[in-house]
Amino acid sequence: MERAFEDGQHGDGSLRTGPRVDDDYLTVTMLSAGLAGILGRRSRAGQVSRRSDGLLPAAWRAGSARLWWRCQEQGASAPESDLDLLAWCAQPFAAWPVSLSLSAQDLQSCLVIGEELSGFAEQSARVAVADVEAEWTENRVYQALRTAASVSGGDDDAQVERIYAVLRRRLIDHPVVTDLELKQWEREFSRTDGSGQTYVRRLVDEAYVPRPASGAHQYLRCPGCRNTVPDVRASCGTPGCPAGTAETVAVRALAVIYEQHRATRRFIHDPGLVEARILDALSGNEELAGRVQVTPYPGIDALDILIEFLKGDSGRVAVAETWGADAKDQESARLLGKAFSWPGSIACDRRFLVLPAHRAAQPGYVGELVAELDGRVGGIEVVDEKRLISMVTAAARRLAR
Ligand SMILES: [Zn+2]
Repeated sequence: MERAFEDGQHGDGSLRTGPRVDDDYLTVTMLSAGLAGILGRRSRAGQVSRRSDGLLPAAWRAGSARLWWRCQEQGASAPESDLDLLAWCAQPFAAWPVSLSLSAQDLQSCLVIGEELSGFAEQSARVAVADVEAEWTENRVYQALRTAASVSGGDDDAQVERIYAVLRRRLIDHPVVTDLELKQWEREFSRTDGSGQTYVRRLVDEAYVPRPASGAHQYLRCPGCRNTVPDVRASCGTPGCPAGTAETVAVRALAVIYEQHRATRRFIHDPGLVEARILDALSGNEELAGRVQVTPYPGIDALDILIEFLKGDSGRVAVAETWGADAKDQESARLLGKAFSWPGSIACDRRFLVLPAHRAAQPGYVGELVAELDGRVGGIEVVDEKRLISMVTAAARRLAR
């Protein structure tokens, strides 16, 4: 605590989570942002040119300098070169020669796994608004979704919202889609642009990678998350997925099978699994039928889930209470708490940040998230997916009386 106000971040004297924690989070955030830049350049340059390696991103330099100071303080040996530091990044923080004030959970994270950013680094780089390439791809997918919905729904706002939710759900339910399935989607959403291409095909072009395949075709997928896997023993790597033995899927294609590209999978499909589970549990619950109206992605993604409790009978139904839920499946509770803000422009009586069961079950996760939100974002209830569903069921009983 002796250097508590080193960066002047808590000059009000608050010691709620220990300012040193923020300090080392800033360091790893900068390293992550730098790594995002380095890996992005490497993938663009292929394996051929290494000339740009001399110009490392500013965030990497700043993170590296902060780390050097931390090593000096502790009498630990600092990385001798950028390559040395890159090698550290492939190790969990707990194995670094310097001790960092990160949560016990986060200390088990690496920044790089193989040739890719880890989930922690990805989340961290986004806190620094630096993972430009991934964000750009993700934004293009969302833009294509909004465009497809708005042209298909026309002037009818409610119809636009409904189509948006349907198409967004398709991205969660279909990590793989064949050209024959896409033709069905095109019949369903048939509006075309000036060149005669449907907007739903444009969406698939943004979110998927085409692979040639004709006639009968088989691929392997994880039964839990439906992501493709390369062989029967391979793990899907999807956070929280129970995985299990890969199943063989037989499909037919004319010429092409589309598979989601990495950004769609990591930022839309995988975190969408918890949203889909909650939506299915609520809409499949017969006890809630007629009492609770559940809207996925209302207001074109102003929120993940809107839950309206209905009251009344014989044709006069009113909304008694409105709840909003925003689901978040992220690796670091601390980083989530630092970056979270309530998304909704929709007025809600109660607001829930919903965690998938696999995050909520991690020791310390909920406590760290709540500590980070405390005093920064008010009026948010943190619950896990099962708790939310049982709360909705209980409230529906209470409000129907
Ligand atoms: Zn899986």
